[in-house]
Amino acid sequence: MKTTNLGYPRIGSKRELKKSLENYWSGKSSLGSLLLTTKNIRQQNWLLQKEKGIDIIPSNDFSLYDQVLDLSFTLGCIPERYFAIKNNPNFAKQDLYFAMARGHQKNTIDVTALEMTKWFDTNYHYLVPEFTKNQTFFVYDSKIVDEYKEALEVGIKTKPVILSPVSFLLSGKEKEDGFHRINLLEKLLPVYETIIQELVNLGVEYIQFDEPFLATNLSKKEQEAIQNTYQRFSNIFPNLKIVIANYFDCYGDNLETALSLPVHTLQIDLVRCPLQLDDILQSGKLQEKTHLSLGVVDGRNIWKNNFDTSLNLIQKAIDAIGKERILISPSCSLLHSPCDLDLETNSKNLSKEVKQWLAFAKQKLEEVTILKQLANQENLEISLVKLHENTKIHEFKKTTSLIHNPNVKERVKALTEKDSQRKNPFSVRQKIQKTALNLPLFPTTTIGSFPQTKEVRSWRAKHKKGSIDAKEYQNLLEKETKETIQFQEEAGLDVLVHGEFERNDMVEYFGEQLNGFAFTQFGWVQSYGSRYVKPPIIYGDVSRENPMTVKWSSYAQSLTKKPLKGMLTGPVTILQWSFVRNDQTRSKTATQIALAIRDEVVDLEKAGLQIIQIDEPAIREGLPLRKEDWKTYLNWAIKAFRISASGVKNETQIHTHMCYSEFNDIIADIADMDADVITIECSRSQMELLDVFAAFKYPNEIGPGVYDIHSPRVPEREEMVSLIKKASKYIPVEQLWINPDCGLKTRHWEETKKALIEMVTAAQECRESISVLA
Ligand code: GLN
Ligand code: ZN
Repeated sequence: MKTTNLGYPRIGSKRELKKSLENYWSGKSSLGSLLLTTKNIRQQNWLLQKEKGIDIIPSNDFSLYDQVLDLSFTLGCIPERYFAIKNNPNFAKQDLYFAMARGHQKNTIDVTALEMTKWFDTNYHYLVPEFTKNQTFFVYDSKIVDEYKEALEVGIKTKPVILSPVSFLLSGKEKEDGFHRINLLEKLLPVYETIIQELVNLGVEYIQFDEPFLATNLSKKEQEAIQNTYQRFSNIFPNLKIVIANYFDCYGDNLETALSLPVHTLQIDLVRCPLQLDDILQSGKLQEKTHLSLGVVDGRNIWKNNFDTSLNLIQKAIDAIGKERILISPSCSLLHSPCDLDLETNSKNLSKEVKQWLAFAKQKLEEVTILKQLANQENLEISLVKLHENTKIHEFKKTTSLIHNPNVKERVKALTEKDSQRKNPFSVRQKIQKTALNLPLFPTTTIGSFPQTKEVRSWRAKHKKGSIDAKEYQNLLEKETKETIQFQEEAGLDVLVHGEFERNDMVEYFGEQLNGFAFTQFGWVQSYGSRYVKPPIIYGDVSRENPMTVKWSSYAQSLTKKPLKGMLTGPVTILQWSFVRNDQTRSKTATQIALAIRDEVVDLEKAGLQIIQIDEPAIREGLPLRKEDWKTYLNWAIKAFRISASGVKNETQIHTHMCYSEFNDIIADIADMDADVITIECSRSQMELLDVFAAFKYPNEIGPGVYDIHSPRVPEREEMVSLIKKASKYIPVEQLWINPDCGLKTRHWEETKKALIEMVTAAQECRESISVLA
């Protein structure tokens, strides 16, 4: 029995990669120094994995920016717009690479970056490969081989990890019509084969091909493409041990395909799908020599492994196929875990009790090794003590009042259908709200945040450090809020917001005030490039002790006669952007959060707020990888939102907001949220998104964003007017709101003011042209 790993975090436990990259980009340090830092990170990772007892250690899991970009680069898949850089001897190869990652605007060169999108259902973003009809591939970069050699230098024979040819093609996009990218496979395979040959010449024993698309719905043709690929590889390299890595879901419909592959090892994600082991063992189709790599340690979350549960699975596999054909591993690359729990020494953030329940990447390596030792009956003196400790911790978790709050559980149990329904249907509410709010046609509003300037951020930092006291901090924020209200009044906006200056982050702000949440100091996970996130940890039953936002919203409302919109983050988004407990279903945790938000909504109403927005930008990203599982998710997710929104009177208008809203395929579910008003991102696609409203009659009110807040550009009034007109073709004008795409926190005041003034004038122009028509 062996241990293996699928990938290790590349960011460095103290974010060394980020610092080094940003220094290089800003010209503060040389390329040489960047490359030295990254070499150190790789070496440390390899040596650490060896020290922790991993037998088969990955290489090529490092990346300067993104592993899919690395592969595009390696395979010479470089779009033409970068040729001016590629062919210019003044640019280093890395600069071409960074231009593809981030775009390049300097002197006469102005190229955009590759498009970025989410890596399956994670919060990691990759750069999308671009393909043309006559796409060619060739070995442009030697990273895979270089890293293999580099590890040999420190005495480690690694397992290079490479995204498979089919998954590489599927992860990309056709940039012209008239072909499907899967048909490029024939051209692509020889290039992979050249690289594999080079590795084989260097003595490589294992290669891991990541085949994550096996966790999605594949067509017959795509399944065959996978079969052909490994048939070819195994013919050409009969002695190579090929590992197929599938993760984030089970093989599902693709199981037969997977079992038929002529490969050495199949990796299975037993955290997401423990039942899959039975399917495989009982299928009778596991080939006699195929090994199973049992992904029992959760690579996506921060909880300590439950050894008893894992050992049961491992034993089952041993009984069926024998120890020699088994590997123990994390469920996926540890890229999605923070680095090292040992760094968490500040018990103010993370109490001792909660800390003992956690394992980050480094600790997960230890878990993999202990599990092997226990299953293999090795090193028993130590491993049995660890097993005993582990059992005790999990027993304690079942009953401790730190996690379990009977009141919260009762409340969830007592919920009835009525709790997720407003008092009356929208058609009734709409009339009542029109009278209560008395807003003009095309009401204007914003999404919530106003610029988080350097000053605002410095006040928060100083307050945290204690160099300004609570009172002073409060005064500064009040002043900022007041000025923001004044500006909105002057600009003539109809529904105002307080600006969210008191918030660091839309999830953390609420997590910090709710029971059941903990925070880390160094629990960073890569989101993309040099951007990392530090998700809160939901470890226990969630409840709200005190109002969280009422003070700021009422203060802001007291400064104006216009309606002020209270601003909350919704239950699904809080769930989606946190590390979520694994001892109960996600839907149950979402329901608990929903109840806490519901209480806040009711308190805002009591405080006199007539409009309350519950942001849910993350609803879509929670969708399971396979379509057949969507309905179950949408049912509980939409319900959680409705529970949070349904405690108020008909008069109170509930808004929600979503960005990146590619929701053509879930529009009926979005409508089912029954928010009185939804604001969505629309302007980047020139309202293309609205096509969906041509087919689907959206019942409630809607604000398709009329300008892109992701760029400093101030849009012209005419552009906005034409977007509004476009929208009114699909959506009756009585249902239309005018607003930007998203919150304004990343923008500067100057452009924000200009843009919003233009927006208000655009709305006025539309009102006038309507009244002329009437
Ligand atoms: N209310 C939030 C803001 O304006 C919404 C942010 C988001 O959609 N991601 O900042
Ligand atoms: Zn948004």
